[in-house]
Amino acid sequence: MQIWKFGGTSVGKPERMKSIRELVTADSGRKVVVLSALSGTTNALIAIGEALAANKIGDAEQQIVTLYAHYESFIKELYTTEASSEEGKKIIDSEFGFIRSLAGIAPFTQKKQKELVAEGEILSTRMFTAYMKEQGESVVLLPALDYMRIDADGEPELASIEKLMKKLLVPQADKQIIVTQGFICRNPRGEVDNLKRGGSDYTASLIGGALTAEEIQIWTDIDGMHNNDPRVVKRTFPVRELSFEEAAELAYFGAKILHPSTITPAKMRGVPVRLKNTMDPSAPGTLITADSSNQTEIKAIAAKDNVTAIYIHSTRMLNAYGFLRKVFEIFEEFKTPVDMITTSEVSVAVTIDNPENLEKITEKLSQIAQMEDHDRNQSIICIVGNFLADKPGIAIRILEAMKGIPIRMISYGASEHNISLLVDGTNKNAALEALNEGLFNFE
Ligand code: ASP
Ligand code: MG
Repeated sequence: MQIWKFGGTSVGKPERMKSIRELVTADSGRKVVVLSALSGTTNALIAIGEALAANKIGDAEQQIVTLYAHYESFIKELYTTEASSEEGKKIIDSEFGFIRSLAGIAPFTQKKQKELVAEGEILSTRMFTAYMKEQGESVVLLPALDYMRIDADGEPELASIEKLMKKLLVPQADKQIIVTQGFICRNPRGEVDNLKRGGSDYTASLIGGALTAEEIQIWTDIDGMHNNDPRVVKRTFPVRELSFEEAAELAYFGAKILHPSTITPAKMRGVPVRLKNTMDPSAPGTLITADSSNQTEIKAIAAKDNVTAIYIHSTRMLNAYGFLRKVFEIFEEFKTPVDMITTSEVSVAVTIDNPENLEKITEKLSQIAQMEDHDRNQSIICIVGNFLADKPGIAIRILEAMKGIPIRMISYGASEHNISLLVDGTNKNAALEALNEGLFNFE
């Protein structure tokens, strides 16, 4: 069994949805096909929810009308037979009926907001399944809400996902294609919830892990993970092979192609992840596996924006133990993950991504240390590759490339696969470009 996931742009137009049928049936293996919502839909649903929460009912209704019109014209192009056009109409009418009913009853709660955003994936999968049936394919729709589970902290419960899904698949043994929704799930209260924005990749990987699939394929509109951010840097190229660790670092540190949690379930069960391009299906894409036999020195660079750097200074740290524990307990208390850390004998600098509790954290830290001013709007530049400790020369090449750009923090040595630099956000693009030119060979 393979798990193939298609993102919003891959299902965003009727002809794209049709080409997904061609792709998934051209290859004879049995598959779970995970779909995102049509591109733009999740944003539209969130905007409708915001209008409802702000009691702007008229605005919300107007936006629902616009979105409905989009779906109406979409299904007109998708189906060819009278019967399936009617089926398509029934699908969108029933789902939009539900959307309108959510809009109808005040107050508009968080719970309803989650039910509302879930409609994007419910619509796309129902429409696609009906299309596959029209075309005579062996297909079934497996509702993600019947098996995808998260715990009270929002973390997926792989064991129960595995149990539920395997049971649901038993009566479907004769079906070639199993369609399901990305992104959506249920929480411990049994309510509709989701795996956060971009979560459909995560769904695919969780299913791949749960079923110990042969392979997980993430289909997007770019030829694999690139060596650098193609939106910022002039010359980039796809990286053909990555290890799970390298891919996880890149996804977490800003490579937008993959949801950052995607690698974990695949890695846990040793399932390879392949990134493929719907616009160019024969292109090799990127293969992510446990095997890091590809020892290319520098593989890729990614950047994470809007990071806050916090500087903690204490003479009590001098020759003392337990100080760092106290520091990290404060971050733990406020459930704030720390990304980058550097230390001197009397100072610690850390970066955080989520500044929600920054004031409270600073207040607590000032009880045990002297706090310097924070730097907001910083960017972490993450360089990924194979940096064996006994092989000289890599740091000098990085610093040489960065010679015109001020560096706030450097983190080197924790892993043989990652070197991170912190720069002011205004210097990020220049840093990516400089490292690109300095670290990769372009003929
Ligand atoms: N539709 C969801 C989003 O836009 C999930 C996904 O596409 O991965 O965030
Ligand atoms: Mg995505």
